[in-house]
Amino acid sequence: MYDLRSDTFTQPSDEMRKAMYTAETGDDVYGEDPTANRLQEMAAAITGKEESLIVSSGCMGNLIPHMIKGGRGKEVLCAASSHIVQHEIGAVVSLSGTLPVIVPSDNGIMAPADVRKSIHGYAYDMSETSMIEVENTISGQPYPLPFLKEIKKTAEEHKLWVHMDGARIFNASVETRIPVSEYAACSDDITFCLSKGLGCPAFSVLSSTHDFIKEAKRCRKLLGGGMRQIGILAAAGIYALEHNVERLKADHANRAAISSALEETGWAEIVISATNMIFFRSQFPIDSIVSAFKKKGVLFLQDAGMGRIVLSLNVTEKDTEEICAIIRNMDTKEFSA
Ligand SMILES: *Cc1c(COP(=O)(O)O)cnc(C)c1O
Repeated sequence: MYDLRSDTFTQPSDEMRKAMYTAETGDDVYGEDPTANRLQEMAAAITGKEESLIVSSGCMGNLIPHMIKGGRGKEVLCAASSHIVQHEIGAVVSLSGTLPVIVPSDNGIMAPADVRKSIHGYAYDMSETSMIEVENTISGQPYPLPFLKEIKKTAEEHKLWVHMDGARIFNASVETRIPVSEYAACSDDITFCLSKGLGCPAFSVLSSTHDFIKEAKRCRKLLGGGMRQIGILAAAGIYALEHNVERLKADHANRAAISSALEETGWAEIVISATNMIFFRSQFPIDSIVSAFKKKGVLFLQDAGMGRIVLSLNVTEKDTEEICAIIRNMDTKEFSA
């Protein structure tokens, strides 16, 4: 089976497991896990922020900034397809009380002028804007840096916090050659996932100022995310940052090859093809395409009426060639079978 469902299905390699086995540990709730501390220092250096905090998941990394800087009855500006709106069980509403306000976007990328227009100042009967949320990459697409700079400038003028959901920020960075710290400079905090394309079993890291991280640590505890000897997992994160970042380029090359093969078929209309992700529409029902490919050993998902293909270290260059051959040889009769 070729697994193109998500980069969350990646497995820790033998080398990563060795790093986990030999990790030094301590009680991280007391700040005494040396491996966790080292990972946090690395993340702070990479993002160019003062301090970093390991969090259980990307969802927690998104929720905590909403608890600290969003607030109850306040508005966060974001795109309709953003993860906080689509895939987090409404946590920013139910747990931080923040109201997501959808800004028009081009497949998730908000134009700075539209963000500006959506800001609410004070009115006795309106919720006020407190935050702007940008997702980078969004559906695989790196956010244009000039947009991010402009959005940050607007936020500063209105004293708004900018949270960057950088779950796949390393995919953006290796693709554009823009350092993670340059993207992160356009936000007040940034979270990234270790558990996706970087191949770790768990964790995200949240980075910002000392003051913010001090508060974030309390929120993490409140959410049940204070963990003990997490060096075992943090070691996987260190390994990933040292070995699995540059290799994301291979995933992007494989994505480009599969995208070209799809484009030639006549039954797939590419909507987004960027970094490690492809979204496509078809004149055939997507679920029938998904099941036809499943029969041939190629797994991918249906998302928002489109086929969604995600490349990761699960798929080699040789696998990609075979997947492309399966795509080229697919008979559309199989879509109605
Ligand atoms: C996966 C993802 C998250 C959430 O990460 P989990 O670790 O699954 O909670 C947040 N934002 C984006 C953009 C993601 O892709």
